[in-house]
This record gives sequence, structure tokens and C-alpha cells, in this order.
Amino acid sequence: MSSSSALLAPWPKLVHRKNLHVLVVLDIDVMIHAAGDCVLMKPAESSKLPYVARVEKIEADARGQVKVRVRWYYRPEESIGGRRQFHGSKEVFLSDHYDVQSADTIEGKCVVHTFKSYTKLDAVGNEDYFCRFEYNSATGGFNPDRVAVYCKCEMPYNPDDLMVQCEGCADWFHPSCIEMAAEDAKKLEHFFCLSCAPQDDKKTLNHVASRISDMKVQLSVIDQEVFNPICFSVY
Ligand SMILES: [Zn+2]
Ligand SMILES: [Zn+2]
Repeated sequence: MSSSSALLAPWPKLVHRKNLHVLVVLDIDVMIHAAGDCVLMKPAESSKLPYVARVEKIEADARGQVKVRVRWYYRPEESIGGRRQFHGSKEVFLSDHYDVQSADTIEGKCVVHTFKSYTKLDAVGNEDYFCRFEYNSATGGFNPDRVAVYCKCEMPYNPDDLMVQCEGCADWFHPSCIEMAAEDAKKLEHFFCLSCAPQDDKKTLNHVASRISDMKVQLSVIDQEVFNPICFSVY
């Protein structure tokens, strides 16, 4: 292949292996496959976070410069709706926005997990991200446009936030939404929400219950602003 020899000369960082489907970036000691490997790419401004992308294709142009065709992941703050309370710090959206970039802008490899596998990680490394939505960059719409919501506050799950599960109804609750300190929640061996707590406990919890119902009225107003135009519901 003529592209093979042309490739090595102008791009000393890049080594051509077998064919253009694999790219080795020497200074970061990383091998990238065109079959969907995810990468971090240099942002336009060095103060910004790196861009997250999925490599679709690796190719050399007529001058032998290596280009990668990428499909961008958007960070919540890059989306039309912006970052919301339930977005995780490592959450990204798989967009419909494709681009061709110089391979030279690759900073390193990363892993974009499914939501489920991300929540099962023992430790989240710098290179770990997760994706639960596809994002339409023109309309700002998400797919799926409905996700399960939890707790009194009826929010989708943010994996960064501590939640406790009720042994009665299996719903999950933010300690702050049930007036519990996070430290106390971590020590709980058993937890029953107000609806599921044994009758005797309900009397002592009554004052908490009335305050929570007040809070829910307030939050339902906020919900409408926060979630419009996306409608979240339990499924
Ligand atoms: Zn809550
Ligand atoms: Zn319950």
C-alpha cells in the first residue's frame, strides 16, 4: 500500500501497523483501533477539558497525514440544555456529530461505559466515562427521552450521589431528601422509607412526613422547569 510508507515520514509519532485500522501513538504509548475505541482529544483551548470521541475510521489523506474520523461525545455542558442536577461528573452523550480530525490531537485513550457497567466499577479512573443517552446536536433532543426516576424528588439517578434503597418498595432515596445526614446513611444496615416503615415508627416520623410533602410540592414546580422539554417518567 502506498499510504504505508507515506504515513511514517511526516508523522514520527504515529506508527503504521498492518493497515490503517490500528494506530499507535508513541508518546502516549497507546494503540487505537478504528472499531469504536474511545479517545480524548486536545481541546481548542488548553484550559478546557479534553473532547471525548469514538474513533470510527483511521485514514491517511493525499499528503499522507493521518486523520481520524470521529463521532463526538458531548459533555452535559456542551449540550443545548446544559448540565442538570442528575448528570454525573463523568457522563457524556453519544452525539450525531461526526468530524475528521488530525490524529495528532489524540491525547489518550478512554473508556465510555454503559450506565450499568459504570455503576458497577469498583473505582472510577480518570479515563472512565459513561453514556446513557444519544444526543441530537441540532434539536438538543435525547434518546431515550424517558428514564426512570427515583426518590421523593423524582430525579433520574446520578451515580455521583449517594442513595439508600428501601427494603420495602425497593425505591432509592437521597439522604438529604429524607432529612438524613449522608454519614448516617452510609452506616445504615436496614432502611425503610416513610411509606414502608412499620406502623409504630410512623408516629415518630410524622413531622418529617409533613415537611417532605411540603418539599415535594416545591420540587414538582422545579421539575417542570428543569425537565422541559424532556419528559421523565418511571418505567
Ligand atoms: Zn431525592
Ligand atoms: Zn419504601
